[in-house]
Amino acid sequence: MWDFSTDPEYQAKLDWAARFVREEVEPIDLLFPGFAEPYDREGEAYRELVLPLQARVREQGLWAAHLPPSLGGMGMGQVGLALLNEILGRSQWAPMVFGTQAPDSGNAEILAHHGTEEQRHEFLEPLLGGRIVSTYAMTEPTGGADPGGFTCRAVRDGDGWVIDGEKWFASNYPHAAFVIAMVITDPEVPVHRGSSMFIIPAGTPGMEMVRGTGLAGEPVGEGVHGYLRFTGCRVPAENLLGEPGTGFAIAQQRLGGGRLHHAMRSAGLCRRALEMMIERIASRTTRGGPLADQQAVRQSLADAWIKLEQFRLQVLHAAWQVDRAKETGDRDHARAARLHISAVKAATPGTLIDVVYKAMHLHGALGVSNELPLARMWQAGPTLGIADGPTEAHKDVVAKLLLRDAVPAQDRLFGSEHIPTRQIAARQKFAGLLKEMP
Ligand SMILES: Cc1cc2nc3c(=O)[nH]c(=O)nc-3n(C[C@H](O)[C@H](O)[C@H](O)COP(=O)(O)OP(=O)(O)OC[C@H]3O[C@@H](n4cnc5c(N)ncnc54)[C@H](O)[C@@H]3O)c2cc1C
Repeated sequence: MWDFSTDPEYQAKLDWAARFVREEVEPIDLLFPGFAEPYDREGEAYRELVLPLQARVREQGLWAAHLPPSLGGMGMGQVGLALLNEILGRSQWAPMVFGTQAPDSGNAEILAHHGTEEQRHEFLEPLLGGRIVSTYAMTEPTGGADPGGFTCRAVRDGDGWVIDGEKWFASNYPHAAFVIAMVITDPEVPVHRGSSMFIIPAGTPGMEMVRGTGLAGEPVGEGVHGYLRFTGCRVPAENLLGEPGTGFAIAQQRLGGGRLHHAMRSAGLCRRALEMMIERIASRTTRGGPLADQQAVRQSLADAWIKLEQFRLQVLHAAWQVDRAKETGDRDHARAARLHISAVKAATPGTLIDVVYKAMHLHGALGVSNELPLARMWQAGPTLGIADGPTEAHKDVVAKLLLRDAVPAQDRLFGSEHIPTRQIAARQKFAGLLKEMP
């Protein structure tokens, strides 16, 4: 049986979360709109406003919902998480209030899976408690989509490792207590066997920020995406996360869930844009009637809704694939989950760009102004087309997986759907049954 309904008990939690985000969290977005502000642990907003809200989220059992109960989370599957993320996507501060903000959620996951007891104690526990934030550094200035081109290197030296090289767009570095960096440890083998993960505490000598890069609209030089340089940066051997050579595999594990979280949060953003669009075209009049009476406007609304519904179902289906793969441990299911995650990742920017643009456009000058959130919401589209890997790379994964079991046609010239060839076979099949063959 197919069933698209949500368990009533969980739906009640989602309803609580939706109300809570609108009434308690969105006002914080309005007063503290900086991209980096949610990560500033020293900030007044965090101390005075967010900490009490986090306590209420904990009371509801919705804190760090992506983590297993052993780590203080809900242990819910990806489908449940997706439904919650759709709600959190409306607000910039909401993921921080619910303890699921990137990159900390991904870093916590890999620390939980691969960290030693000491690493969990030193880095994971304060991260889960919301006392610190962290950074993830994989991309290099010379290219991020192709890890095969990474050159940042760590060399074993006595009881530690020495790192030299550069990383780029390490989000939230200025506020982070530690960096998890994927670094080449064996340049003689391909990157998927020759890289390792290191935990580098803030302030480690030899790690510096060349500059902070921001997104469009932020003052130049003030962004929180760190351009990092490592010069003879020494970390003790116990700061290696997982086994040497497993960096790439760990990175894949961390990015899979994150891509679904971003996708469902994008669906939440689109839903908010759609609600704004409906309100606007019902309120605004033109040529003596509501904008909603114009056929082109109605078509645009219908197109936006259809696009959003298709995308939302695609994300939920991908989330279900991930849950199934985890439950069965089946390799084919795992492969299907990878396929669906990449497909969702590739579909995310286009959905945001299209749906939010339509809403923005129908708001006229107000839509593109700084008095509505739409232009900034739209910016998430192009940004998510790059972050976590560009769209083309994900479409390539989709195509590769689809082609994996492809078998060339026996009739290479006309293929297996060639009507004249199939008609001959059909006539042979029914010969003797039909008096007259068509
Ligand atoms: C907001 C934001 C936050 C980020 N946070 C982090 C972070 O915390 N940590 C981190 O390590 N990185 C982070 N990144 C970096 C991100 O992962 C990289 O930008 C991304 O992997 C692409 O790398 P690049 O920018 O070097 O682009 P390139 O690799 O130079 O690619 C540029 C373009 O070339 C084309 N292209 C590349 N490869 C292919 C291909 N195989 N086929 C066809 N076309 C291709 C695509 O059009 C692509 O967009 C962040 C990026 C953004 C925008």
